[in-house]
Amino acid sequence: MTGTAELMWRWADTTPDAPALREGERAWTFEQLRTGIRGAMEELTRRGVRPGDRVLVVVPTSAEFVLTYHAVLALGATAVTVNPLCTQRELTHFVQDAGCSFAIGWHEGSQALTATAQECGLQTWVLEPGCIPHPEGSPEPASVATDDPAVLLYTSGTTGVPKGAILTHGNLLGCGASLAEALDLGPRESMGTALPLFHVFGQSSVMFTVYTAGGCLSLQRPFDPAGLLRMAADQQLTAVAGVPTMWNAMLHADTDVTPQDLTSLRLACSGGAALPLEVAKAFRERFGAVVLDGYGLSETAGAATFNRADLPRKEMSVGRALPGGALAIFDDDRNQLPPGETGEVAIAGPYVMSGYWQRPDATAAVFEGEWFLTGDIGRMDEDGDLWIVDRKKDLVIRGGYNVYPREIEEVLYGHPDIREAAVIGVPDERLGEEIAAVVTPQPGAHIEPAALRAWLEERLAAYKVPRIYQLVEELPKGATGKILKRALDRPTIATSGER
Ligand code: AMP
Repeated sequence: MTGTAELMWRWADTTPDAPALREGERAWTFEQLRTGIRGAMEELTRRGVRPGDRVLVVVPTSAEFVLTYHAVLALGATAVTVNPLCTQRELTHFVQDAGCSFAIGWHEGSQALTATAQECGLQTWVLEPGCIPHPEGSPEPASVATDDPAVLLYTSGTTGVPKGAILTHGNLLGCGASLAEALDLGPRESMGTALPLFHVFGQSSVMFTVYTAGGCLSLQRPFDPAGLLRMAADQQLTAVAGVPTMWNAMLHADTDVTPQDLTSLRLACSGGAALPLEVAKAFRERFGAVVLDGYGLSETAGAATFNRADLPRKEMSVGRALPGGALAIFDDDRNQLPPGETGEVAIAGPYVMSGYWQRPDATAAVFEGEWFLTGDIGRMDEDGDLWIVDRKKDLVIRGGYNVYPREIEEVLYGHPDIREAAVIGVPDERLGEEIAAVVTPQPGAHIEPAALRAWLEERLAAYKVPRIYQLVEELPKGATGKILKRALDRPTIATSGER
């Protein structure tokens, strides 16, 4: 078995001339895609990457991401794909935790990676468009087992400490196969997206699903709502995938694209965060396409549920378990609950991760037999349709990016003038949620929100830095002294910088 590379090789053998990848004016057939992957495999091998190595991938959405990522997996190495906006401090954590020996970067904004590489003694390959060399030979994929790790995706999961969810070759192929079946995707499919490919949604639910079907992946970067609609019309895309904030932005885009231009668009796929009902309704009214919602996590290699295109969408439901998988609702004592009752959502299936990288305790804590406990609160009806009600865990999703308050709180607690800190999400029209920091100063200390923000900006990726700051005398606490975030007055006024 050759793992995920099997997919690319199969289509290159059977439909070599079919379109496989587009980015702007550049386009690849499956044969050309395999040639590019082979070129990247040779280059990575020349630079010392071996089977079993962990390779840090710090590359934005681009054709070069697709080629090098698949080359890493084809070599039998493990890709650790992270947000290119990460700081040196964050990258160093990933490198040390995963034991990365090599990094792939991007020519723009590579300072943090350069500094990390120096600090950790990492070899790097910095990519730019068109940099993948033509292969001299025809390297074949390494032999891997279904449960060999293919990717580590860092996520804070239910506990707030970033851990690497191990996705195996079988998980990625399982997610692709289940989604392709559920959405009835075929080889003539072309899916457009501006999602980041380092994240599970773009990487697994979109890329592996398209390639399972033998369809074409059409990339846009950076996200431009009017441009993505224009791309859907001009390329006659059959599917577009994005997080709710992207659908909201497309809904309000200044564009002359009409429903008649989008008649090929069969699937408008949302996921990653709750899709507001009003956005889905208004999008359908303006563009004629029904936005379907799916739900999943890094730990489930992407979507584990999806609305069925062939059934009427139940309002606000994220749909049913994908083929081959199952859903259950558990109470706090880990007993399964009957339909209609609300509890913790649990998922089983071929796409559920094998565990967290080198964290047996954290892994044991989220599994009950074959069931993975998600930390999300939901309920199911008799048909098996799922509604996500709330998040048990402490996660803010700001403009589609997951932000874990605890990580920011840790940094805030490192500030000499701060006594206590709580970071929360507050509703935001544009971004879904905005991040707010509520802090109590050390006795006698004076804190300037603007200075605090600048201090955080030095230590965290920009998308994690709160835009809202509130100074309070005391934070509300429970009996054990735990800060009760739910009891906080939700601050809504930005006291520093732009919104
Ligand atoms: P990630 O691991 O980055 O994919 O984040 C997973 C989390 O995003 C889940 O645990 C949910 O809290 C949230 N999420 C993902 N998809 C949805 C959805 N369709 N509706 C509501 N929340 C979602």
